[in-house]
Amino acid sequence: MKPMNKETALVVFSGGQDSTTCLFWAKRNFRRVVALTFVYGQKHVLEVQMAQAIAQEADVEWHQMDVSFIGQLGRNSLTDSSLEMDQEKPADGPPNTFVPGRNLFFLSIAAVFARERGINHLVTGVSQTDFSGYPDCRDAFIKSLNVTLNLGMDEQFVIHTPLMWIDKAQTWAMADELGVLDLVRQRTLTCYNGIPGDGCGHCPACKLRREGLRLYLCEKEGRQG
Ligand code: ZN
Repeated sequence: MKPMNKETALVVFSGGQDSTTCLFWAKRNFRRVVALTFVYGQKHVLEVQMAQAIAQEADVEWHQMDVSFIGQLGRNSLTDSSLEMDQEKPADGPPNTFVPGRNLFFLSIAAVFARERGINHLVTGVSQTDFSGYPDCRDAFIKSLNVTLNLGMDEQFVIHTPLMWIDKAQTWAMADELGVLDLVRQRTLTCYNGIPGDGCGHCPACKLRREGLRLYLCEKEGRQG
């Protein structure tokens, strides 16, 4: 068995605000960073191209993996354009932007991919604080999966979740502290309607992202003024 290399981290990297912030967080905390982007039938292929461009700019080894089967397993409004996107979290469960099993599949596949390369540190940008009703963004799920992966492969994976307990404003603060506020603002794609940077402004992802940025910039201005 290959020895685990504690100096390398694998980042599950979508090219959005959160995972891009995590990519630069990993660059600060690990000597070497590898980024893995999953292609799962997103309506916006642009997202994958942008992820590749950011990884290139960050000087990070980049891989993509096709996992389109997860879009065929369950219906969700991110991969199925015949579904109208939920704007709010319904009372009876997660919104239809939820892709069932996404983080379960992503992290499990990432762990196998990492293991092949002797990497045991995994980084994901999930957050319980901004948790839009997605059960697989919760800390308990990540901890449980970490144990399962270790048992399933007899390894010592460590899943890092730098954004777990911080909100969107604090995520912007982290990007700023890492020196990539402008890069994250201009070059990432979070918008459910596929518009890069500041986005469409009215989808749930844009609302969350914009409100976080507004709060962070207000707070920063207050500190400086
Ligand atoms: Zn949007």
